[in-house]
Amino acid sequence: METKLTRLVAEAAICIKSGGVVAFPTETVYGLGADAFNAEAVAKIFEAKRRPGDNPLIAHVGSMDEIGSLADDVNPTAKLLIERFFPGPLTLVLAKSHRVPDAATAGLETIGVRMPASELANDFLRTCGVPVVAPSANLSGRPSPTTWQDVYEDLNGRIECILQGEATDIGLESTVVDCTTDTPFVLRAGAVSLESLRAVVPFTQIYRADDHAAPRSPGMRHKHYAPAAEVVIVDAGFEIPGQEAAGYIGMARANGSTGLEKLCDSVEEYARSLFAFFRECDRMKIRRIYCERVDEEGIGAALMDRLRRAEVR
Ligand code: AMP
Ligand code: MG
Repeated sequence: METKLTRLVAEAAICIKSGGVVAFPTETVYGLGADAFNAEAVAKIFEAKRRPGDNPLIAHVGSMDEIGSLADDVNPTAKLLIERFFPGPLTLVLAKSHRVPDAATAGLETIGVRMPASELANDFLRTCGVPVVAPSANLSGRPSPTTWQDVYEDLNGRIECILQGEATDIGLESTVVDCTTDTPFVLRAGAVSLESLRAVVPFTQIYRADDHAAPRSPGMRHKHYAPAAEVVIVDAGFEIPGQEAAGYIGMARANGSTGLEKLCDSVEEYARSLFAFFRECDRMKIRRIYCERVDEEGIGAALMDRLRRAEVR
């Protein structure tokens, strides 16, 4: 299949309406989308990404009205979070409507719903006129794509279309919050921090897999976010062993020589740059990447979450 590259929203939306899969930019990472109500199109996402069938997708909406077509019950807590954080980098897990095909939610009775804040994503979703289910637009197991070129590297020839936009602003996937019970549980850290969620719903909790019987976020079991290189989390000032040509990313200057180094001025820039840096290291065949530890506040919590997941081998 030939993958069409376009900057035209209308062209990308036509692809969705005719049952194709389209990669598109959001403020978090690039997504790989299909019409949420077209089971055949949804199946193509799993095929293109080689994604395990038990890993559910997030439904992206361009208007508040569409939430009602995806979710049966939006409880008062979810309403508060929607009011405060939509559009934005927050996904709410809600009880799903019977209209949503099982393939989209990996057979779960719940569905993740998000309204992206990025203008291009919004424009695209409104032009599609249907909710678009989309996981990150990478091959399963690779770091999420933050540029259209990253998408191209993984999926050229495997998908119908790439909507070309700028590099993504946040660079880490959305915060996922389970709102199916009265107590919201954070299933995945993201740019919407625990502190900011608690400012709206003070009793918001962090979900810990071993506190509960069944895993609530099946996707989190799978290996994620990792480059081919070994990732090692280090403290500022760590001395990089000589002769190694390792990668280094952080805010403090590396101590020692590296094959590739990325210095960031802020934790936001670190988060925005991480996955692209992982990919660049892989292209350079770098075998080990040292990543500076950061404080777990704000986006720092999400960044440390991704680093820890990438570190596990
Ligand atoms: P991705 O966009 O590739 O990060 O994949 C979406 C992720 O969102 C999944 O791997 C899950 O961790 C989470 N997710 C999506 N839908 C649900 C759901 N219904 N229940 C729990 N977690 C979900
Ligand atoms: Mg993903």
